[in-house]
Amino acid sequence: MCGLNLPKHTFYVDNLYVYVPMLFDYLVVGAGLFGATFAHEAHRAGKRVLVIDRRKHAAGNVYTESVEGIHVHRCGAHIFHTNDRTVWAYVNRFAEMNRYTHMPLASFGGKLYSLPFNMHTFYQMWGVTSPQEAAAIIEKSGARRAFPSPKTWRSRPSHWWARTYTRRL
Ligand SMILES: Cc1cc2nc3c(=O)[nH]c(=O)nc-3n(C[C@H](O)[C@H](O)[C@H](O)COP(=O)(O)OP(=O)(O)OC[C@H]3O[C@@H](n4cnc5c(N)ncnc54)[C@H](O)[C@@H]3O)c2cc1C
Repeated sequence: MCGLNLPKHTFYVDNLYVYVPMLFDYLVVGAGLFGATFAHEAHRAGKRVLVIDRRKHAAGNVYTESVEGIHVHRCGAHIFHTNDRTVWAYVNRFAEMNRYTHMPLASFGGKLYSLPFNMHTFYQMWGVTSPQEAAAIIEKSGARRAFPSPKTWRSRPSHWWARTYTRRL
């Protein structure tokens, strides 16, 4: 700037040199999981961070309120999924998770069915107890397509099954 040794963050505006002290390195808009994580890590890295949010609370959509000792999910129920130990260890530094097992049921025709689809669902629908029997019924129905081994049905059902049979139910 014209050979002058001006401090950083000095701007030339309307024939004047204006010094604007930068109080923050980052302005983070939104204190949800993303903004909060970024802000935390940036702060740890020595940056000055300002987080703003139009809501009256932090946490964005995962916000909960304690009502008589119960975590009430004000923006809809949230389940934290990860199979990554590092991620799990990281989030547990900030919050204590509730123990939860996801066991949804589908209600159809006055009966309840286990979801996602597994051998128990086939038992509920058709009374079969083996993957071979289930396969025979599916084969007969003409619904079988490029589909992995029946062994997998005992554990994790494929998305294809879920789509096809959820639609039918
Ligand atoms: C009903 C529901 C259920 C869900 N269930 C699950 C689940 O079970 N498991 C799962 O992993 N994910 C779930 N999700 C998704 C999960 O909520 C999001 O992936 C996660 O919260 C996204 O975090 P985020 O920080 O990106 O955004 P958000 O949580 O949306 O946070 C963004 C924040 O930015 C603020 N903001 C936005 N614009 C402005 C602005 N212009 N000025 C100021 N502030 C602003 C908002 O107020 C908000 O607080 C669910 C979402 C919903 C809606």
